[in-house]
Amino acid sequence: MNMRLNTSDFFTQTVEDSIQKNMSLAAYNTFRFAYQAEYFAIADSLDALKVLLAWANRLEHHVTMIGGGSNLLISDDVPGLVIINRLSGINAREHSGNLMSLTVAAGENWHQLVEFVVTQGWFGIENLALIPGTVGAAPVQNIGAYGVEIKDVLARVQVINTVSGDVYWINARDCGLAYRDSYFKSKWQSVFIITAVELSLKKQGQLQLSYGGLSDRVQAQPSLKDVFNTVCQVRNEKLPDPTVLANAGSFFKNPIVSQAKHSELIARFPSLVSFPFEQGFKLAAGWMIDQAGWKGKQFQGVGVYDKQALVLVNYQEDTADSLLTLEAQIKQSVLDLYGVELEREPVQLPSTISVDHSMNAESLG
Ligand SMILES: Cc1cc2nc3c(=O)[nH]c(=O)nc-3n(C[C@H](O)[C@H](O)[C@H](O)COP(=O)(O)OP(=O)(O)OC[C@H]3O[C@@H](n4cnc5c(N)ncnc54)[C@H](O)[C@@H]3O)c2cc1C
Repeated sequence: MNMRLNTSDFFTQTVEDSIQKNMSLAAYNTFRFAYQAEYFAIADSLDALKVLLAWANRLEHHVTMIGGGSNLLISDDVPGLVIINRLSGINAREHSGNLMSLTVAAGENWHQLVEFVVTQGWFGIENLALIPGTVGAAPVQNIGAYGVEIKDVLARVQVINTVSGDVYWINARDCGLAYRDSYFKSKWQSVFIITAVELSLKKQGQLQLSYGGLSDRVQAQPSLKDVFNTVCQVRNEKLPDPTVLANAGSFFKNPIVSQAKHSELIARFPSLVSFPFEQGFKLAAGWMIDQAGWKGKQFQGVGVYDKQALVLVNYQEDTADSLLTLEAQIKQSVLDLYGVELEREPVQLPSTISVDHSMNAESLG
């Protein structure tokens, strides 16, 4: 009997055939740790992503999404299906007045988006230049730099429920966006995959120059392009390029402490670098690690970057063992010296967070 597949069966079959077994993730995380994904596929369209999720559900495989792998600490082989996000497309809508809406597919490169937006003359994300990774991962930890966070311009995110395959939009204010955090990093991890974001940008805007010494580096009355170029310059001077020296950017969050704890620390360390934050203070973790003597230290194939103590680097290791030991040592010495507990910024894989798939559009309100 001559069975013919229809177009949709053929598409499903082609996507399922693209799934690979025991694939090294070394090229898919900027620490370059060489653990394996049990199953691995690249999603380059929403339809392909739906097929992959349906396949994983049918076989009861856990799903992990990776964008650029620049905020990951992979510390073991990852069971289930790892999907690499390559959804693409940008759509701009001009509104009357000062507003531009931009809908961007989650697999687009974040820095290339910033460059495009600056070239168009639209304001809002110029300070977030040169942050590696994808657009879809940007809300996951509410990326931020130089006094700006994506939360400042994020209108809503489009998500797909990994079990039901339903696609819907969630308002940014319902995503738990906070300092380097969101529900996507905790209770929504593996429940929702971000498939697109909508940004609200301005045709005329205020430049934010008051952080990280930007105002000292730009000329008087800088243009949007000047700020973008300066941010790129400063970052290139301070941060290692992950394609040259493996790293995941800041390894620790800046700890937030109460006013009382801050006063105690200032009395003991008058040059402590800190900033008022909500009801308390945010401490510069890089300064604390540097003062504890770690900057430039190397340890069994990994180390602390010599120009920025907040960044841990991997010189040659295939596994995360040395890095985990170094992390524990740094945390202990900061705790001993300042009585402050450091929290890791990158997301660890395989995930240890238990998943609540009962969440759906209705339960979000
Ligand atoms: C040199 C360097 C500098 C950096 N500087 C900064 C900085 O200034 N500010 C800052 O905030 N961060 C910074 N980072 C961290 C990192 O670039 C950002 O967090 C970035 O948004 C991660 O994007 P990604 O695509 O690489 O995410 P990945 O590392 O692939 O994933 C990170 C997490 O998000 C999840 N995820 C990825 N895509 C999706 C999706 N579509 N839907 C749901 N979950 C998803 C993953 O499962 C994982 O839990 C830096 C990193 C490096 C290497």
